[in-house]
Amino acid sequence: MKQENRESDVINRPLPTFQDLVLDRAAPHVLRITLNRPKKRNAQSWDMIYEIDKAFAFVAHDDHTKVAILAAAGPDFSSGHDLSGHGARAIGDYAPVGVWGQREAPGYEGPYSREREIYLDMTERWRNSPKPTIAQVHGHCVAGGMMLAWACDLIVASNDALFSDPTVDMGVCGVETFAHPFELGFRKAKEWLFTADSLTASEAQQCGMVNRVVERARLETFTVELAKRIAAKPMFALKMTKEAINHAEDMAGRRACLMYGFALHQLCHTHNIGLGGFPITLDGLPPTVKKAAEAWAARKDFVKAHPDGSGE
Ligand code: ZN
Repeated sequence: MKQENRESDVINRPLPTFQDLVLDRAAPHVLRITLNRPKKRNAQSWDMIYEIDKAFAFVAHDDHTKVAILAAAGPDFSSGHDLSGHGARAIGDYAPVGVWGQREAPGYEGPYSREREIYLDMTERWRNSPKPTIAQVHGHCVAGGMMLAWACDLIVASNDALFSDPTVDMGVCGVETFAHPFELGFRKAKEWLFTADSLTASEAQQCGMVNRVVERARLETFTVELAKRIAAKPMFALKMTKEAINHAEDMAGRRACLMYGFALHQLCHTHNIGLGGFPITLDGLPPTVKKAAEAWAARKDFVKAHPDGSGE
């Protein structure tokens, strides 16, 4: 009885609040993080990325949480990194959470240290965070959106979900966390990146990237039920199982693949900055995204925050 009281106290304890995320306890021991920029199709601003990092840290440290769900509000899971800019924010406004970068110190400015912290190292920290996580994906999941889904241990998709990484159209060789060959298989990863096509949920399942595909109307319930089944297992054994499988993937070359892919990704940014002053090419973007990215690059605060022209 005493134990039950303590548990209900924990459940009722207020959760951290965020600008672009909503946290709720979807079931006992199941914490749900919902991306909540529906009008922007959950484009990931720097604000949102730093908030996701805080939310994953909360999951790791919260004694009551055993499994986390990463879900999204609105029509799409995520349209990727926000190419329309970050308001008046400069990357130096955020306190670093990793150990790689200072911010504006000589030698640390520019895209490498920023992308190392917020895209490569942060995403890897989420992926290696020891408690089981489930991405609940519906609608479009594009480029940087793939990094969020891949960072989770399981992916449950609705049958209308579409997965794409059209970065070749932007003059870049895939998103910053280059897990594509391990997620899709080598040949399929080439076809997917070369064509910049979308994969349907069932195609993604055939490749082994998606665990389960369900009707859109059942997506939320199905994901919570799956999380509850996992949360009923012993926490220590779950953590060790995750550690063992992540280690197996990394021993099979995933980590080396990520580091080499990240180096080539940075080379693409540098190449594009050299040719056109912007880290990506804009001609292959959909017209509205292209317009927003051009407007961002032309703004005074972009120049101030990115004197070298960098700024994806
Ligand atoms: Zn980049």
